[in-house]
Amino acid sequence: MSDKLYHECHEVISQGKAILEDLQQWGFETVNKNAIEVPVFDVSGPLKKSAPPVLPETLLGLERSLAGCHRCSLAEQRKNIVFGAGNPQARLLLVGEAPGHEEDVRGEPFVGEAGKLLDKILLAMNLSREEVYICNVLKCRPPENRDPQDDEIAACEPFLQQQLELIKPEVIVTLGRFAAHALLKTATPISKLRGQWHEYEGLPLMPTFHPAYLLRNPTGKRPVWEDMKQVMQRLG
Ligand code: SF4
Repeated sequence: MSDKLYHECHEVISQGKAILEDLQQWGFETVNKNAIEVPVFDVSGPLKKSAPPVLPETLLGLERSLAGCHRCSLAEQRKNIVFGAGNPQARLLLVGEAPGHEEDVRGEPFVGEAGKLLDKILLAMNLSREEVYICNVLKCRPPENRDPQDDEIAACEPFLQQQLELIKPEVIVTLGRFAAHALLKTATPISKLRGQWHEYEGLPLMPTFHPAYLLRNPTGKRPVWEDMKQVMQRLG
């Protein structure tokens, strides 16, 4: 089977499984969602940059390929997969940690209080949500907003890698330690990472604090603004 055909089959099967899950949730108890097996991505191969043939041609194709994803246990309690939102040709891409309650309900990233603060930061940068792209390392909400676990990050990270490869932003900003650690493969504290340029696959990356952290620690706003000034400078 060609890679293109494989991917198209995967999308169709994933969407069918998602529909069956919806039917079950609506009370159609005789529906057996396990009647359809969704093929599992081989993260050691096709999802990596070194194997471009299975990379979906568009972000929409990638989003569809996630439908009904059960690669990690977060699938069990999520209401929606929060894929990402914004401009597919964005020059600036922001990566957060994981959806919270509000994001899980609405299926959109950064729509809660932290999202409102992020909007203010973008506004101060003279940017709108429509001009940037926003996503998270994890596409499903961890229960009670607990920290992401290593196995969940490992399972979901290939989707983030593909998003970055498809969008090819000029600048990446990571929000909080989990996004910085996931992309930079380091355990250095975010307080030491922020404020300096790093590199992800040849792209400049600026780590900064997560807006949710700023809600709890307003003194972090000034350093974040310093970081964003560097980002604006880099974007010209
Ligand atoms: S968090 Fe990612 S890997 Fe886990 S179920 Fe959701 S989409 Fe799949």
